[in-house]
Amino acid sequence: MPIKLPSFRPRRDAYPPDLWTKCPSCDEMLFNKQLDKVLRVCPTCGHHFRLSAQMRLDQLLDPGSFTEHDAGLQSVDPLGFVDQKSYPDRVAAAQLATGMRDAAVWGTGRLDGRSIAICVMDFGFMGGSMGAVVGEKVTRAAEAALAERLPLIVVSASGGARMQEGTLALMQLAKTVAAIERLRAAGVPFVSVLTDPTTGGVFASFAILGDVNVAEPNALIGFAGARVNAGTISQELPPGFQRSEFLFEHGFIDRVVHRSELRVELAVLLRYVVPLPLEPLENVDTGSPAAFRPLSFLSALADRVIPEPDAEPGGGRDGGRPAEPGAAERRVPARSAAGRRAPAPGPAPAKAPAPAESPAPAEPLDG
Ligand SMILES: [Zn+2]
Repeated sequence: MPIKLPSFRPRRDAYPPDLWTKCPSCDEMLFNKQLDKVLRVCPTCGHHFRLSAQMRLDQLLDPGSFTEHDAGLQSVDPLGFVDQKSYPDRVAAAQLATGMRDAAVWGTGRLDGRSIAICVMDFGFMGGSMGAVVGEKVTRAAEAALAERLPLIVVSASGGARMQEGTLALMQLAKTVAAIERLRAAGVPFVSVLTDPTTGGVFASFAILGDVNVAEPNALIGFAGARVNAGTISQELPPGFQRSEFLFEHGFIDRVVHRSELRVELAVLLRYVVPLPLEPLENVDTGSPAAFRPLSFLSALADRVIPEPDAEPGGGRDGGRPAEPGAAERRVPARSAAGRRAPAPGPAPAKAPAPAESPAPAEPLDG
């Protein structure tokens, strides 16, 4: 009987995927446990693998300091959306695969001893896509940061809005941006960490609105894919134009930070960008244009655009043109229009036919 010598050639199944990961950048086979120890960064070429939300929280926060909020939020299926699978089936599969309810986790914790509000996205859950739950979590993190005057950190990893939730997903863009804007107006810092990938609706809303935008090396960051971009403007785009380093060179991103230094970097940043102290109530000038009140802002703007009628003659921007009379005319109707609008609640009942008509078109819709 011939003796069969063992083969030392690596066989195809010699690298079971639960034990080994192949680096897509340098083709090195990496032992998963070893890779986890180095925060899933390839020791050979520095390729940054994607991190789960849990690993990200473990990496950034002081051990045991994280308290999750709104863990029970879960997507519903508002559109009854079905493609190859129904949306609830996709959500259930993603929940089984990741152990998460949706693609984001938010809570409060400490980073180098400093209390922060943090929201972390997980690309493993349906591509980190932003539906109503993800948008709500980012918003609640921002609202908690505002209420408690804690710095906010959001770690993005997302392909964009979740198409299965249609318009409701798109609404999250406006909602999250509004929450971030309130944070900015109140002087509470927001540090955005962009990881691979941060694209689509997440890129187009809160992810690039950080007071400081930090990215991981070689992360894909952009709105649409490279081919769509090139097609839209009918131009060849430079190589790597959607990568962190390119965006950093062009001033779009403030820092590109290796994952091993991210925690220290954020800790240093949080020492520089601190929430403004709350003004004592008696010092708050409610008439200040800094307070975000759209109407007062617009009227202040209009007063600035329209030259004063009693300004020195010919002193307008249009030089010698008869700007003065026109300006006066424009100014008077503006005031009278405002005057007309003010008593509107009085004559409103005169428009009674309008409310009577409005239910009429609703009936054919129902029928
Ligand atoms: Zn590598």
